[in-house]
Order: sequence, then structure tokens, then C-alpha cells
Amino acid sequence: MKYLQLNGIQHYAFCPRQWALISIEQVWSENADTVLGGFVHKLADDRYFEEKRKDKIITRAVPVLSRELGLTGIIDVLEFHRVKNGIILKNNEGFWEPFVIEYKKGHPKANNSDIAQLVAQIMCLEEMYDIVIKNSSLYYKQTNKRLNIEITDDLKNLVRQFCTEMHTLYEQGKTPKATNGKNCQRCSLKEQCQPRLTHHKRSVSNYIVKQWDDLI
Ligand code: SF4
Repeated sequence: MKYLQLNGIQHYAFCPRQWALISIEQVWSENADTVLGGFVHKLADDRYFEEKRKDKIITRAVPVLSRELGLTGIIDVLEFHRVKNGIILKNNEGFWEPFVIEYKKGHPKANNSDIAQLVAQIMCLEEMYDIVIKNSSLYYKQTNKRLNIEITDDLKNLVRQFCTEMHTLYEQGKTPKATNGKNCQRCSLKEQCQPRLTHHKRSVSNYIVKQWDDLI
């Protein structure tokens, strides 16, 4: 099985066709949102940086992988908080618990694609460290706020479902049809996608958006 890019899951949760255009057809287009997003990630992505405080260790640009999900990627900021029972870290006394902070531009989105990416990161860490992580957070640059997210089994199952669908589409080299929905207005690939010109029929993206709405 080929490992897919972890950050692709945010595109898939937003629109499966957008993910396929980027990951299968190698189409990419910048708009104001993607340029700003790249800038925010650059701020967070200070590779190999590690900061130690009394009860906290902060690491950046941490590579992660999940065999179960077939994903590989980078976590912007991974904190380790000192706890009574946790994992052991080389060259650090005591026990520690991982806590992810995923940096985003703007403000929390209605479509929950950011949450999908965060949950996928958590699932990678859980597999790598053989632990369970209950909470992590999204940081939004525009509002300068952290949004704490509870990592539920329902969210994990939906991420598993996304990954299964992504791998199936990737192996088949299939790009889903456009939906021409409300997401299209802010889509960086609208020009290349031409949603009005493609057929309208029930698609996986409608199905997925409905499931997100039911969960949150
Ligand atoms: S324009 Fe609409 S259908 Fe096309 S990729 Fe973007 S969100 Fe998906």
C-alpha cells in the first residue's frame, strides 16, 4: 500500500474531488487562503526546534506515520506534558503525554476539515507510541485562539473511513465528480475543477459532509 500525505485528509473532508485533483491529478492552485496557510505553517515549522520547560517539552515539525491509515506527514507543534503515568522520552526524566497543536490560518471552519487532519495526526501518534490521546487542539492565527478538540471514537472511525476511500480512489486513479456546492466558492481549485460543467449526481462528498454534520 502506498502511503498518502496526511494533510490530504483536510482536502478530502472539504471535498473528495479537491483531494483527488491535488493527489491523483497533481493539480494545485494558490489563492489567498492557501498562501496565508503556507505562511502560518512556516511560522510553526521550525524544524528540529525543541524547547524545554519544567513540565512541558515543545517540539516542532515532527514526522509521523500510521500503518493502519496508510498516512505519513508532519505535525506542526507537538508538546509533551509531564504526567504521572505516560510515555518515556529519551534524555528526559519522568513520564510524558503528547499534545498536538495544529496551526491554521483564519478562524474555525464550518466544514470540520481541520478536525479531520488533527484526528489523523493523533491516530498516528497513538499507533507510534501505543497510547490513547483524549484531547488536542487547533490554533487559529487570525483569532489567536486555541480550540480544544476531544478525540472521540466516532471521529476516529470517520477518519478511518476517509482513509479507506482515499486509498481506493488513489489505487483506481479515480476523481469523484463535482458537487458545485457552497464549498466551491472558497475552493482554490474552482477554475481547474469547473464544477458547473461537470455532472451532478449523488457523490461521496455529499455523503461525507452529511456525516460530519451529524457528528459535530
Ligand atoms: S470547485 Fe467545488 S467540486 Fe470542485 S474541487 Fe472545489 S469544492 Fe470540490
